[in-house]
Amino acid sequence: MEIGETQPPVAKRATLTPKALIHQKYGDKACYKIEEVQEAVQNGCPGLAIRQQCRSLFRCFLELPEFSVTSETFSKKKDAEQSAAKMALEKLGIQPTTNKLTMQETWDELVARLSYLFTNEFLSTSHPLIGHFRVAVQREGDFYGFVPVSVIAAYDVKLNNLCKFINQKAETNPPLSIALILKAARLSSSICTSEGKLWIWKQNPLSPEIIHSDLKESIQIKAMRIPCSMEKPVETLTLNVSSKEYYLDVIAQKLGVGDCSQVIISRTVSKASSEMRLYFSAPKDLYLTSDSSLEVLSNMKETVNSQSLFNARAHYFSGQNIYGDALLATVGYTWKSTDLFHEDVSLATYYRMLICRVPDGNYKLSREAIVAAELPTAFTTRSNWRGSFPRELLCMFCRQHRLSEPIFSTEKINPSEPPLEISKNCQKLKLSESTSETEHANRGTGDANDGELRGQGTFKYEVRILSKEQDVIIECSSEDSYRRHSDAYQSVALKVLTWLNKYFKELDMPIEKLSCFGVDYGIRVNPQILSGVFALCPFVHNVQQTSVFRKCSSLGASVSAGDSNPKESVVPLFNIEGPDTGMSPSSGSLTCISYSISLVRGMEYIGEPLESKDEFEFEIGAGAINQQLETCVTQMSLDQSARFTTELPSRDLILGASGESAEALSLQTLQGCFLEYSVKVLRVTEPLEDRMEQALFSPPLSKQRVEYAVRLINESHATTLVDFGCGSGSLLDSLLEHPTALEKIVGVDISWKSLCRAAKILHSKLSMDSDPKVQSKRISSAILYDGSITDFDARLFGFDIGTCLEVIEHMEEDQASLFGDVVLSSFCPQILIVSTPNYEYNPILQRGTSPNKEDDLEEKTQSLPFKFRNHDHKFEWTREQFNSWASNLASRYNYSVEFDGVGGSPGVEPGFASQIAVFRKNTIQADCLRDGKAAGHYEVLWEWTSNTSRSAL
Ligand code: SAH
Ligand code: MG
Repeated sequence: MEIGETQPPVAKRATLTPKALIHQKYGDKACYKIEEVQEAVQNGCPGLAIRQQCRSLFRCFLELPEFSVTSETFSKKKDAEQSAAKMALEKLGIQPTTNKLTMQETWDELVARLSYLFTNEFLSTSHPLIGHFRVAVQREGDFYGFVPVSVIAAYDVKLNNLCKFINQKAETNPPLSIALILKAARLSSSICTSEGKLWIWKQNPLSPEIIHSDLKESIQIKAMRIPCSMEKPVETLTLNVSSKEYYLDVIAQKLGVGDCSQVIISRTVSKASSEMRLYFSAPKDLYLTSDSSLEVLSNMKETVNSQSLFNARAHYFSGQNIYGDALLATVGYTWKSTDLFHEDVSLATYYRMLICRVPDGNYKLSREAIVAAELPTAFTTRSNWRGSFPRELLCMFCRQHRLSEPIFSTEKINPSEPPLEISKNCQKLKLSESTSETEHANRGTGDANDGELRGQGTFKYEVRILSKEQDVIIECSSEDSYRRHSDAYQSVALKVLTWLNKYFKELDMPIEKLSCFGVDYGIRVNPQILSGVFALCPFVHNVQQTSVFRKCSSLGASVSAGDSNPKESVVPLFNIEGPDTGMSPSSGSLTCISYSISLVRGMEYIGEPLESKDEFEFEIGAGAINQQLETCVTQMSLDQSARFTTELPSRDLILGASGESAEALSLQTLQGCFLEYSVKVLRVTEPLEDRMEQALFSPPLSKQRVEYAVRLINESHATTLVDFGCGSGSLLDSLLEHPTALEKIVGVDISWKSLCRAAKILHSKLSMDSDPKVQSKRISSAILYDGSITDFDARLFGFDIGTCLEVIEHMEEDQASLFGDVVLSSFCPQILIVSTPNYEYNPILQRGTSPNKEDDLEEKTQSLPFKFRNHDHKFEWTREQFNSWASNLASRYNYSVEFDGVGGSPGVEPGFASQIAVFRKNTIQADCLRDGKAAGHYEVLWEWTSNTSRSAL
């Protein structure tokens, strides 16, 4: 909370909390970890099925570079943190009361520090100010020895901190620091100022001998002009500093002010080590008589953006109030050397810095795929993630926007509790669920098989983002719990980033709408503070709406598929070239492509490619690259290449990506342009599961499953078959290659993409005019249906055989149970084969693959809960769980069931790698109820009959 001006200044220091004092001393090096402690409930009734409310308490572990402390337990996390901070302060011997300076003492310090800067003793240090003093004594005439106050205010950290202490607003308002330093200069006996001037100098002139001068060559520095009017574009200019000149004089000239004392210097922008700063001309208030200037500046309204001269773009970069046109330049003296340090700032640098500040910008920059990369929508595994991890990205984002570091806290879900885990893409979280304890109790009550698997406990994380004033502005907890700490916190960080990203596209959203907008995504926000924090960066998204970037009507419409059902959107033309090698990237696989993106107008290429990469690897299905590109890649196969065009993305991205050629791309050049992508698939690494299955089994486990099913189908003499969850049709495909009695084969799946792939393969096999001995000649009908296998469709009633290989684990457990009920009660196949991974086998699989070096130590120690084989798996059952599911099901619907498997040997622990249940209808009581109402849920996606073939594709 802001402290009012009316409060006595002494009180200011006294109100600092122990945590704030620790922060002053250690900054980011102080690391708070919150641990949740469950307090046992008194008078609990043993054996009660309903979970007792137990109270959560929090303990805080504070780690400092020298030592660490652990607090007592508190019911609020905040109190635990403060208590830990207090303990640390006691250990350090810092008593909050003795540490504070009075306002008078602070002024004395300020005057003393300022006077010290003008002593010969100081001149023998390597302080960055020395370079400026050297210039001052080289100056001839009336201004000999004069130093601009702004230089002193910008370059001496100690002075700066004292100014902030006197008036907190000095941090965001550089002219205020200048006014304070001028006042201190007047209080000093050794330093001179003159009313209405922004110079200070020493009573007894600095001795020139101490400061040797060395002449440098003239230099050229590229800098940016950031006009205060949003309508005017940012542009490049060159600072020509000759060997005799003071660089600040050159900047003054460019800003159109009389001399360098009238140039105000911001703090450093971007990385702390850099000398990139903003320069602007002193506001007129600074020239008022000293005391009134101080008064005006310290009473300046916080709602600066209403003022006409306020430079919003410059403010966004520096977090300081900047007025009028500003220059952005990297130049100055440093601690390291007496030579002037300088670097060019190009238009591309500027736009890259801009992109960096949007929530997914750092991700793009860390992968340097600015146009192609998107922030993935899901965190699957660490090894599939490319670029900085979500937690780092969120921390960077907070730093960029001068917010406190995000606070992550965890709770371990007690293994005896009902499970929460398993679902990765669980539906949108409602606010009430995420906050209340009832969530734990609500889920998983129905299923007898729940729970056993998770004996090792899982984790949920919560993240809070606070303003510098320590007000909570965003709060979010993970909806799912995870076996690994890192998966849990990375996921929750990603959730916040994804939300922020959406919010950044609608920054002008009214405050009333903002909290709903958070709730929709399971995020609690403080709308007032949030919109206050980001209100000053409107140009980030204004830029994207520049009229130049209207959709290229003819091209744009076809590619903006959005989130809509792919069937409804027009599929863009991808111009895929090269033979189909059959190796297509599927969801979860790591795919490596080469690509290049160029600006084109008509048939003409504009300049060099904007962006190109010889190798770029990403995970399919996580949204890690922009949608058109991903859609294109998923339709390609290994070694194919493709070419397609899209509308232009935002101007920031184009200019950020275009590097050296950014300057040449004026708005006019971009008019009527579009982007052409050219892409080639270099490598497809299958999802973890397939990789393991191929590496450890011969033939691969998937092949063994199919062979198992084919053998059973043959033995049964079935003529009709339905493959539930047929995917890309691997089983149906092999059935065409083996001689069987089958006449009609049907596949059902909910994945449109997989079905399309299956249709392609089956179509070419069936329509091939080949050897009459080949099985496919017997097949008279093949159909692929788009639909969920939990819905009944009467067209598939009473088939001879049903297969469902490695499908149920891709559904939520309740859906898997539902499928069991529907298939045996309504579809009523004579035989049903169901396979699913055996969780107990995972240790063998995962020992077989090389250990992941990236993994945290913390995770190594608790390697006991084994990972699922595929990130899309919602569960993996032990033998016992699978047996009890299948046995219950069989007895309910009058089927018999036998258990078998592939991968491994019967009777050898820990069972088969893939467990299989074979259900057979008991013929004695063969009647099966048909549920007439539910008929006809599926949509034909592709159909083939022996005479004609028809495709709905
Ligand atoms: N049976 C195939 C594919 C296994 S992958 C094989 O053995 O190769 C699992 C498949 O189940 C995916 O294609 C997925 O789209 C499908 N699936 C998941 N839930 C489904 C549902 N409710 N209805 C139909 N298919 C489903
Ligand atoms: Mg699977």
